[in-house]
Amino acid sequence: MKIVIIGAVAGGTSATAKARRNDEEAEIIIFDKDKDISYSGCGLPYYIGNKVKDRSELVPRDTAFFKKKYNVDVFIEHEILGIDVEGKTLTVKNLKTEEVFNQGFDKLVISTDARSVIPNIVGI
Ligand SMILES: Cc1cc2nc3c(=O)[nH]c(=O)nc-3n(C[C@H](O)[C@H](O)[C@H](O)COP(=O)(O)OP(=O)(O)OC[C@H]3O[C@@H](n4cnc5c(N)ncnc54)[C@H](O)[C@@H]3O)c2cc1C
Repeated sequence: MKIVIIGAVAGGTSATAKARRNDEEAEIIIFDKDKDISYSGCGLPYYIGNKVKDRSELVPRDTAFFKKKYNVDVFIEHEILGIDVEGKTLTVKNLKTEEVFNQGFDKLVISTDARSVIPNIVGI
């Protein structure tokens, strides 16, 4: 079973931990286009406000942590350009090398954040 997860912040890393608890044998891969993963977005105002002094407090986990703790490969600076649902394949771009390649999956988790729907109501 190959589980591929797009997005490595709150949602993606929670899905990773749960997937590993459910299946010890699965191959789990995460892609994120950003450099930082599993960071505390909620802590950012405290960093700007100088209450949190050290940036590393907001980014306590890196790719090595996920490899060691969950045996998961995290690819940072890799952007998903397309999803072929029927073919179960992603088009991935390595943003450092510009290489574009395909990545197959059995199960896909999309955790790329969400935006609320804002209804068209006067005065909203
Ligand atoms: C300033 C600030 C303060 C906040 N304070 C609070 C708070 O006090 N309490 C609270 O509950 N929440 C708070 N939040 C919200 C909280 O941080 C978010 O709800 C949470 O980060 C959402 O996690 P997520 O994994 O769903 O999405 P995100 O954190 O947005 O992660 C999505 C990831 O997907 C990656 N991605 C997107 N598209 C692609 C692609 N095509 N290919 C590869 N990767 C992709 C992005 O690079 C990103 O890393 C705050 C957020 C901010 C910004």
